[in-house]
Amino acid sequence: MDNSEKSALITPAYLERFHCLADQCEDHCCHGWRINVDKQHYQRLKYLYSADQNAEKTFNRCVALVEQAKRTVDCYATFNLNAHNECSFLDAQGLCFIQKQHGADCLPDGCRLYPRKQFYNGGRVEMYGALSCPEIARLCLLAEDAFDPVEKNAAISPQYVEYIPPNDASYYQKYNVEVRSWMIALLEKPTLSLSERLILCLYFAQGSVGFFHKTTVEDPGQSLQNLIETLNQPDKQQDIFNQFNAPMGRHVELMDLLLKLLSLMAAKPFAADIIHSCFGVDIRGRREITTMRSPQTVYQLYQENVKTITSRYDKRITLFFTHYAMNFWLSNWFCRSDNLFIHFSRFAAEMALLKFMFFQHKDIIVLAGHNDIDENKLDKAAVEVFYRYSRTVEHDSVLRAKMDVLIQEMLNEDLPLLLACIQF
Ligand code: SF4
Repeated sequence: MDNSEKSALITPAYLERFHCLADQCEDHCCHGWRINVDKQHYQRLKYLYSADQNAEKTFNRCVALVEQAKRTVDCYATFNLNAHNECSFLDAQGLCFIQKQHGADCLPDGCRLYPRKQFYNGGRVEMYGALSCPEIARLCLLAEDAFDPVEKNAAISPQYVEYIPPNDASYYQKYNVEVRSWMIALLEKPTLSLSERLILCLYFAQGSVGFFHKTTVEDPGQSLQNLIETLNQPDKQQDIFNQFNAPMGRHVELMDLLLKLLSLMAAKPFAADIIHSCFGVDIRGRREITTMRSPQTVYQLYQENVKTITSRYDKRITLFFTHYAMNFWLSNWFCRSDNLFIHFSRFAAEMALLKFMFFQHKDIIVLAGHNDIDENKLDKAAVEVFYRYSRTVEHDSVLRAKMDVLIQEMLNEDLPLLLACIQF
């Protein structure tokens, strides 16, 4: 079943370096996820597993049809999870036995592509990695040259997270590549601090709201160009920094937002543990309640930790969060959001949440208490935080939607609170 075709492709270096760690992986991608099977692959697998009674038994144990009323061509069946909440097709070594027995072409597209995400930008295919895979998180966050672009012709499965039609894209879609390219070039600018780069991104997002949004009917090209030229001027940049690059307060509201976001994820032990250790709240009611801390106290303790750790590892931590930001803007296309400002809000809230989880990670707290430098421990904690967060949120559409609603309700074009998020 080879339905691939050769296409012009651009991808970052980190994805070119990726190889699945299989049984050496600290987690694996078949844990706890619902894996959809399209009709074509369902029929193919049913045929392959009909050779004898044992094969048929395996198929019936591992695959379930979606109930008739909800069945579609793309979501025709699912793979059952075993008693360990893992895909039933995993063998004792944690390897996929469909792949072992019949090759990767027989896997449903989701399994075959993961952790790659494909996009079509109206001209060529772009491919990025999902940070929910720990190996992708390592390669993306830790290497200085992770985002060096790689251009080539490659075999592509025609399955896209986003697709911009080549001939009748809306104005909002049409400028997708230009806008993201400007954002990425800005995020990489070594002469500005990360906080300054994010302030310019925010200023751009806010400044574009009037003429660049989902329902734009007039060509926004000239207005976008003017805004970009203005923001590229060093004098203008300095004006903006003077205006915004100072603490804006609002930390109590920010801590409230973070606690609410963590509470939405509290079914995951890592989120419940942070709520317990930082806020003193036992959200799952299984432990003794420690002293509940005020948002102001939590913020002060967090800031002390940030100060200690960044005084030793500033460059490395800036690299993690710069690369996270780049991957966000490359692989979460703003065309999904009504305008750039709304999209920026989600990004800013997630940056703040990830920073909080990183600086409150138990190994980072230990590092803060020692004077010696241990970059390996720092890297390990970063990978764990980013991949666990991504694994929890990016593959759970219900949770994702709840978080987006909460972020919009609480940030709601509140510029000082957005600034507090990116300067956190
Ligand atoms: S999570 Fe990534 S490295 Fe681990 S098994 Fe899945 S694809 Fe391979």
